[in-house]
Amino acid sequence: MPARTESRPGRVWFVGAGPGAWDLLTIRAAECLRTADLVVHDALVPPWLRDAIAPAAELVPVERETTAGEDPGEATGRLLVRLAASGRTVVRLKGGDPTVFARLAEEIQPLHDAGIAYELVPGVTAALAAAAAAAVPLTSRASASSLTLVTGHEAGDKPNTVDFRALAGLPGTLAIYMGIEKIDRWSTALLAAGKPAETPVTIVSRCSWPDQRIASSSLGRCAVDATAAGLRPPAIVIVGEATGQASRSGPLAGRRVLVTRPAGQGEDLAALVRGAGGESICIPVVRLDAPASWQPLDDAIAAASTYDWIVFSSANGVRSFSMRLRAAGRDARWLATARIAAIGTATRRELAAVGLAADLTPDDFRAEGLVAAFADVSPGSRFLLVRADRGRDVLPRHLIDAGHHVVEVAAYANTPLGAIDAATLEALDAAGIDWVTVTSPSIATAAAHLFGDRMHRWRIASISPVTTAALAPLGLRPAAEAGQATIESLVAAMTDAERSG
Ligand code: SAH
Repeated sequence: MPARTESRPGRVWFVGAGPGAWDLLTIRAAECLRTADLVVHDALVPPWLRDAIAPAAELVPVERETTAGEDPGEATGRLLVRLAASGRTVVRLKGGDPTVFARLAEEIQPLHDAGIAYELVPGVTAALAAAAAAAVPLTSRASASSLTLVTGHEAGDKPNTVDFRALAGLPGTLAIYMGIEKIDRWSTALLAAGKPAETPVTIVSRCSWPDQRIASSSLGRCAVDATAAGLRPPAIVIVGEATGQASRSGPLAGRRVLVTRPAGQGEDLAALVRGAGGESICIPVVRLDAPASWQPLDDAIAAASTYDWIVFSSANGVRSFSMRLRAAGRDARWLATARIAAIGTATRRELAAVGLAADLTPDDFRAEGLVAAFADVSPGSRFLLVRADRGRDVLPRHLIDAGHHVVEVAAYANTPLGAIDAATLEALDAAGIDWVTVTSPSIATAAAHLFGDRMHRWRIASISPVTTAALAPLGLRPAAEAGQATIESLVAAMTDAERSG
């Protein structure tokens, strides 16, 4: 509507999303996403970034297909003009940084023409995120006095695009974007121009995504290695002497460790694996869902003052419980009269995070530990057990046997995934997995189902005797078992097993 356009012309923010992980957003980018009315995005923006976007914001995907002869960047620019003309705040979200290989000039032109103001918000570009992930420097006083951002896409296609002869002669680092698809072409071009075959190469695929992969190679071998390792786009290839100076060290160096926890919950374990020098790959085998109904949990929360003990058997249970407590307009004061027990340290930490101090955490992290810890509680006490929809019933059975009154509520559903897509399984086979971590009985069953025979080839790290017991009927024996049921102890068990061969 022209009248509105003139009175309130709108504005467009070109916002860099970084490589993917939400914690690599800049504070300014997060602020823009929080306040946007419309977010125009393309495929490089991963789903979990959506949590950073205001729930009321409208998400507008960019059309990939444009009419013949039309530049996709300009088509997007015209879309931005139309959206901004409504006077609403438009964010054009870009992977990495909006100024790097992002068709920014093409998208801006229609805004210029229409007199619509725009701003740029920088993001962490893939080359910088990749170097950080691989822990390699991009420049060095000794061997790399320049850094060149190059597209690998145009290699050999057109004359006068990327001059690999000139690039081969630079005493510096090359960060090749869109580097995997034509790795054969551009690496051959660099070799032909005289760049030594032994020049170190680091490839970071799906940087900061759960299935990030890092591979070290050389210019001469990188095309073969990338294919053999099944590395998937998007990937950055870093070429140069500087990258060869640092390599991962630690007890798990050179080991690939599969983390199978539910989406969003594997990151702590993955970080510990990386800290020990290993490479972590996150492929969830179970999914956390809301329980079939919130009613039982809501009823239990409403009756909280009637319980002597509220027992949490996992951090997930704590999260659901506190979420429903808040939804009922209540806070920690509502739980003033009940005592609170946590089955392990992670559960206790989660309780602390929501402002609740556990009165009891057993030394033995199994349900058996709680059974022993409750041995002195006077019979006839009322217990509320907050748990998954499925799980062991050691604790309720013992409490009932001891003459207590027990109510169990499902605070979340633990659902095994039906299948893992073939491309992911192929990539795992190509990469070669050394360890698979199994962090609960339900994960043990789901992993055996989803990975089949692979579970016999991979070394299994089990988090507890209970998990090990769930593996036994599946014909699986762990090569390492955590001494304490914590992820720290799990990683220690793997490193011990590596040390002792
Ligand atoms: N504007 C983006 C680049 C877009 S071009 C930026 O600044 O990063 C797309 C290319 O970026 C991909 O082919 C890949 O080379 C790189 N890229 C983007 N996200 C990546 C990621 N998470 N991991 C590795 N490479 C990535």
